[in-house]
Amino acid sequence: MTDTEIEGPGRHRNGDELAESATKRDDVFDETYKEKEGPKPSMIIVWKNIMLMTLLHIGAVYGISLVPSAHVLTWAWSVFCFLISALGVTAGAHRLWSHRSYKASLPLRIFLAIANSMAFQNDIFEWARDHRVHHKFSETDADPHNAVRGFFFAHIGWLLVRKHPDVIEKGKKLELSDLKADKVVMFQRKYYKMSVLLMCFSIPMFVPWCLWGESLWLGYFVPGLLRYTLVLNATWLVNSAAHMWGNRPYDTNINPRENKFVTLSAIGEGFHNYHHTFPYDYASSEFGCKLNLTTCFIDLMCFLGLAKDCKRVSPEIVLARAQRTGDGSTRNRNG
Ligand SMILES: [Zn+2]
Ligand SMILES: [Zn+2]
Repeated sequence: MTDTEIEGPGRHRNGDELAESATKRDDVFDETYKEKEGPKPSMIIVWKNIMLMTLLHIGAVYGISLVPSAHVLTWAWSVFCFLISALGVTAGAHRLWSHRSYKASLPLRIFLAIANSMAFQNDIFEWARDHRVHHKFSETDADPHNAVRGFFFAHIGWLLVRKHPDVIEKGKKLELSDLKADKVVMFQRKYYKMSVLLMCFSIPMFVPWCLWGESLWLGYFVPGLLRYTLVLNATWLVNSAAHMWGNRPYDTNINPRENKFVTLSAIGEGFHNYHHTFPYDYASSEFGCKLNLTTCFIDLMCFLGLAKDCKRVSPEIVLARAQRTGDGSTRNRNG
C-alpha cells in the first residue's frame, strides 16, 4: 500500500495516510444522524434473491445428506475451503479493508482477495462500503442490516429486499478513496463474477474429483454449496445474534454483544461489543488470539513478514472504558 502515491489537496499523500484518514471518519459511530420522522418507506421485495437463497439452502440441506458418503479427504477439503473463505471475509474484507486495522503486503492482499471471492459475499469494495455504513449508522435506518428490525432482517432479510433509501444515501457519501486506490480491490471488483465462478464453485468441486476421485456431484454439493452456505450463515450471525444476545462489558449504550457461539462459528468475530467500541483494533477482541483464529492468522502473517502495523488498544484504555460504560461483567471478561 505504501507504493500507492496519490495527490491530495495541496500535498502528496501515500495510500496508508489516505487509508487512515478515510477510515478514521467512516467506521466510527455518527451521533449526529437522525432517522427521518413519519412513516417508513415500504419494503420492496427482491424475488430473484429470495429464489436464489431458497435454492441455495435447499442445496445445502441436500449436501448434508451427502456428507456420510463423502471421502474423508473431501471432509478435510470442505473444512479447508470453509476456513479460507472465512479468512477472506474476516482478515480481508473486514479487518483489513473495512477497518484498516493492520497493513498487508501485496502477496497477502492478493491471497485475501482470492479467498474473499471463494466466500462470495459481494466484492471487497461493496462489502467494505456497506460495513463502514453499518458501523457509522449502527442500529438506525441507514444501517444495511439494522438489528432493530429483528433477527431475520439482520441475518438474511436485508439481502431479500431493496436497501432503505438512507443506506444508499449514506453509502454514497462515504469517501472510500483508500479502497479505490487499492489495485487489488479494484481488480477483484472488475473480474468479480469470473473469480466467484472459479473460487466459490469450480475449485471446491474439481479438486476432490481430480486428486482423489470424488464425484463431481458430491464436490458441487458438499465443499461447494454446503460450505458456501455455512460461511454465509456464520457471517450473518455476527449481524444478527451478536447484535442481540450476550454481555456488553465495554459499552451498554450500543446493541452489539459478546457472543461465544458467534466467536466460534465466525472464527473470532463474536467479540462484537468490543469491536463496535474499538473498531480499529486488529484483534477485534481484548484477548488477542484466544478463540480467535483470524487474529492467529494475522499474527502468523506478521511473523512471516507479510503484514505489519497491527493497531491495538492499550489495556488501560480498555479497562477505563469498561468501567465507565460497561455492563459490570468486566470482572468476568476473562471467562
Ligand atoms: Zn456489527
Ligand atoms: Zn467491523
